[in-house]
Amino acid sequence: MSRQRVYNFAAGPSMLPLPALERAGAEISNYQGSGMSVMEMSHRSKLFLGIFERTQEKLRRLLNVPENYRILFLQTGASGQFSMIPLNLISRTGKADYAVTGNFSNLAFQEAKKYGQIHLAADMAENDYSRIPRQEELDLDPDASYFYYCSNNTIYGTEWDYVPQTGSVPLVCDMSSDILSMPVDVSQYGILYAGAQKNMAPAGLTVVVIREDLAGHELPFTPLMMNYKTMIDKDSMYNTPPCWCIYMLGLVLDWIDENGGLQGMLDLRQKRAGLLYDTLDHSRLFRCHAQKNSRSAMNVTFRTGDETLDAKFVAQAAAAGLVNLKGHRKTGGMRASIYNAMPLEGVEKLCDFIQSFDRAN
Ligand SMILES: *Cc1c(COP(=O)(O)O)cnc(C)c1O
Repeated sequence: MSRQRVYNFAAGPSMLPLPALERAGAEISNYQGSGMSVMEMSHRSKLFLGIFERTQEKLRRLLNVPENYRILFLQTGASGQFSMIPLNLISRTGKADYAVTGNFSNLAFQEAKKYGQIHLAADMAENDYSRIPRQEELDLDPDASYFYYCSNNTIYGTEWDYVPQTGSVPLVCDMSSDILSMPVDVSQYGILYAGAQKNMAPAGLTVVVIREDLAGHELPFTPLMMNYKTMIDKDSMYNTPPCWCIYMLGLVLDWIDENGGLQGMLDLRQKRAGLLYDTLDHSRLFRCHAQKNSRSAMNVTFRTGDETLDAKFVAQAAAAGLVNLKGHRKTGGMRASIYNAMPLEGVEKLCDFIQSFDRAN
């Protein structure tokens, strides 16, 4: 290889743990003496079913998933869930509550409106999505079929630091950009889900954890492939699942296990975010987008206030091996995505770079 690996701060697809990549590399053309790659195997073969089941079990153990919940390995991205959730869940009362705290919860809200009466339990647009609503600000309808929110707003860099309390209304949560970064109490949710490409595996896999009794109430026109019940009954194998991504997820889960499990991920997450926010707060030039008590530990959004200077920062950082720091086009400025696989050393290097840029400009 001509170039060393860089510290990649991309929001997704994003860095994967190096040991997982290296193991995949070692097994790429001949998986455990089978004479073939995982990419070449039948999804119904004994060998692949072993990979599938072990990956499901590892995830169940790591997330401490209760027995009355199913783990599904689906496709169509996290965005596919924007339709799948109302299609399967809204029939109970025809109504649902949505908290819109960023781009993806807004897209989910817009999509859900096709299927029922959708009520905004909170809308953070007027603050330019710079903060998370407090529990007492949530306008809850006790008659909602479910309450929907996104635990970490990947684009704006805000994150819920509590689990909303909604009484008997099931919680549905998009955890695409903070799943596996800390322990969660799955029993508090009806459904939690994540596109894999931020913190789990390569793009192409969507992980859904669903309380089993919530399936089987889909609207009559629900497409077969968008029906949780179909996927539960066939254990995610109604059709060909994203085999390679599931295998890669297994390797990433092994790496998490070897690094202290979800408690270990939480410790690392706090160290990375603490260091970066502290450096930004002590700088002259940089301001964070998120309000202090709503800051995300996964996506850190900041800017100088001068677009030319922001562009210079992004370019010089890339030249120093700190790549993909340009903010999303909706926010401008910079965004450092610091998921599980970002080594602490990468954040330390970024902090050094921020300090020297701060002095030089
Ligand atoms: C990236 C992202 C999505 C969209 O994921 P796709 O898999 O591309 O559909 C949805 N929600 C959140 C929170 C995300 O970060």
